[in-house]
Amino acid sequence: MSSPLRSRVSRRSAVGAVSLALCAVASVALSGCLGLGKKTGEAPTPQPVATKTPGPPDIDYAKIRPNELGKIPVIMYHEIGGKPYARDPALVRTVESFKKDLELLYEAGFRPVNMGDVLENNIDIPAGTSPVVITFDDARESQFRLIETENALKVDPNSAVGILTEFNKKHPDWGLKATFFVLPKSPKTMAPFGQPGLGDQKLAYLVEKGFELGNHTTLHKSLARMPVAEIQKEIGFAHNEILRAVPNAKVQVLAVPMGIFPKDKANWKYLLQGTYEGKTYDYKAAMLAAYRPIPSPASKAFDPLRLERIAPLDSDPNGLRNWIIKLKAAGGDRYVSDGDPNVISYAKGRESEVAVERLKEQGKIVYAYAPFGTGGGAKPIVTDGEGSGGGSSVAVEEKAAAKPITP
Ligand SMILES: [Zn+2]
Repeated sequence: MSSPLRSRVSRRSAVGAVSLALCAVASVALSGCLGLGKKTGEAPTPQPVATKTPGPPDIDYAKIRPNELGKIPVIMYHEIGGKPYARDPALVRTVESFKKDLELLYEAGFRPVNMGDVLENNIDIPAGTSPVVITFDDARESQFRLIETENALKVDPNSAVGILTEFNKKHPDWGLKATFFVLPKSPKTMAPFGQPGLGDQKLAYLVEKGFELGNHTTLHKSLARMPVAEIQKEIGFAHNEILRAVPNAKVQVLAVPMGIFPKDKANWKYLLQGTYEGKTYDYKAAMLAAYRPIPSPASKAFDPLRLERIAPLDSDPNGLRNWIIKLKAAGGDRYVSDGDPNVISYAKGRESEVAVERLKEQGKIVYAYAPFGTGGGAKPIVTDGEGSGGGSSVAVEEKAAAKPITP
């Protein structure tokens, strides 16, 4: 990874930037576009470092093979700790199993992002890793319990927030990210996460740490046949409550109770936009409950009203364990990051899947690189007449195919 060419590229001159831009316009050509110095053997001319040029990131594409049109698992947790119900084992995950899920995801190369990051297509994780969204429904106490000590409130290490915090300490590259779909005033306790009197503080703590608050409505009723005004009340009251507790929270996603959408499709728009007591809500998505990974936000298949979630189950064919295996397998089409949230990289041949208009609006650069065949692992790509001495560095030449979408 420490080839001289790579370091030269990172000091890419202003001249290089221009040739990249020209290349981008011409697109497709695989070699001979980007004047990196290697082919002609000329020494690089030292130049002042230009401001970041709009182009693909400086990574080893042959090794990393980013796949930013791939699928993303969103996992749906409810209770953490206790005994799984026989009737619906997905609703309860023991502390041990939850910890194992995190280890398994980590080892498989997943890194957490908030649901909002996916909706905004701002997936900022290291090159070569894959995003996963951890979500929690219902604001149950086992997700975030505080223990009163003499001078402070301590996060219960066996609640989900405690476990995630500990996991982040052990693996600093596993960020404090998760989306909590809260019921801001549960009928039983009038507080999110049980423990009356501590709800507002808990909501504020989550946002401060980098977690995300989502809406799970007010009374957790089925929206199937609910009148329009009541749908807006169910969502709007909860929305206003979250913002009362945490005015700077960015609440932009709803988890529909039990995943049951209004029967009348004409009312689906109120899942995203509505008004209650003079205040509006404006969401980017309404999530379903089951049971498959979601399409990439760069893909045409991405539909903010058809986003499914995966249950934390060990043996179910559509449970978390099996989805990790399926996504990891060759052809599993999991999202693999190029490390740059502003560039969408994918192997050529899938152009028809790209949501071009959406990416334009988002100001993204799209980069289709030449596929590297099916051989496993990092195989250096050798360009014409170059011999094999260049090793992994040669893959940088592939960048010539950069294709920006101008906003
Ligand atoms: Zn729920």
